[in-house]
Amino acid sequence: MPAQIQAVKGMNDILPPESALWEWFEAHVRDAMAASAYKLIRTPVVEQTSLYVKGTGETTDIVEKEMYSFEDKLNGDQLTLRPEFTPGIVRAAIEHNITYEGGKRLYSIGPVFRHERPQRGRYRQFYQLDVEALGFGGPEVDAETMLLAHDVLRRLGLSDVRVEINSLGVLSERQAHRAALIAYFESHGDLLDADAKRRLHANPLRILDTKNPAMQEMVAAAPKLTAYLGEASLKRLEAVQAMLAACGLASQLNHRLVRGLDYYNHTVFEFITDSLGAQGTVLGGGRYDGLFELVGGKPTPGVGWGMGVERVLDLVQTQKIWQPASELDAYAIVPDAQALPLVASLLQTLRAAGVRVQQHSSADGTTSGMKAQFKKADGSGAAWALIFGNEELANGQLAVKPLRGQGGEQRLLAVAEAANWAASLKALV
Ligand code: ATP
Ligand code: MG
Repeated sequence: MPAQIQAVKGMNDILPPESALWEWFEAHVRDAMAASAYKLIRTPVVEQTSLYVKGTGETTDIVEKEMYSFEDKLNGDQLTLRPEFTPGIVRAAIEHNITYEGGKRLYSIGPVFRHERPQRGRYRQFYQLDVEALGFGGPEVDAETMLLAHDVLRRLGLSDVRVEINSLGVLSERQAHRAALIAYFESHGDLLDADAKRRLHANPLRILDTKNPAMQEMVAAAPKLTAYLGEASLKRLEAVQAMLAACGLASQLNHRLVRGLDYYNHTVFEFITDSLGAQGTVLGGGRYDGLFELVGGKPTPGVGWGMGVERVLDLVQTQKIWQPASELDAYAIVPDAQALPLVASLLQTLRAAGVRVQQHSSADGTTSGMKAQFKKADGSGAAWALIFGNEELANGQLAVKPLRGQGGEQRLLAVAEAANWAASLKALV
């Protein structure tokens, strides 16, 4: 036998019945987005590598070690599989000048790729729900995007998610804080790991983001950015928190929340759960007013977030919020292959009338015995078996039998009435 080919490590197949959970998720997302007038955008999964180097930032985990990059063999372009949505959406917004007549509220769902060590809640291909509000500068839109995230989670039945928030202020405030931070870290040079040493001058803020247990205590006592924020930045943070609070959403200030990406300013936030162990951040985001210019556009404010879909669905399953429902109304039993053309046309008529119906089929293509067909019908989750026996068909009829212990008698329906079966089947319940 030829060697079995397996999926790439850290990349998952999404199979039935769990795939229905994904459809359920996406349906709730669509409703939530419509309720806040966010519109769908889809951008390519592949972009120029330079977009992420500039947009995501050279000293980020993503650009330093997590990107799937390759050279286009035909023209030598350096390309990268999307590791996050924001730079691609901003690129598209600039390319099509979509904010020329005002701000745009956008969302997208799709796969992203990061070369990380696979574990629960951490994959190499995973899905993000992404929201971006482009061209709006006020704190009410920071709050709006956060409330939209809350609304998505509420619709999914998830309530025990807490919100952490911080402000990264404006550039001059970050610069003053940065100088204090470098001086502080230099005075604790013996405690810095290799990553931290490398980032000390390139991006010391990122050291606050460290997951190294040996550095936690030292990092916790580092100079806090809020101490360097001016009145306007502090007021803005308060304004966002007040809007959230007015909607019953408590947000906790976390001084060490700096987010892993270079482009943020002012509001940054994460939604975190304690039910998923180490990978508890279900969503992260913030404001990025400088990003458009970084990737070659006109100054345009932006704010948004990315949600890890696998983590959210893990939470939904852990909390047993979702159960697979029956997806079939009727199962067609065909005792004799002669009837197949008629059955095919009747089933199409039924489907057009809104009945979800599946036909029995065997692995080897031969007609199965009645017993085997009934067994499959019972296990199919369908409410009804439709039996297309030759004798009944000769009389212009077929038999309908209730399944799954619904009780009720088997009865006959007229083939000529096929278009009305949908109503007839409902009436039989
Ligand atoms: P972390 O600190 O856990 O690495 P991150 O800051 O890299 O997270 P973001 O870039 O903010 O994550 O991505 C947004 C969301 O995507 C995260 O909050 C998380 O829910 C999810 N996520 C991030 N990386 C992965 C991954 N490798 N596998 C599955 N989900 C992920
Ligand atoms: Mg990461």
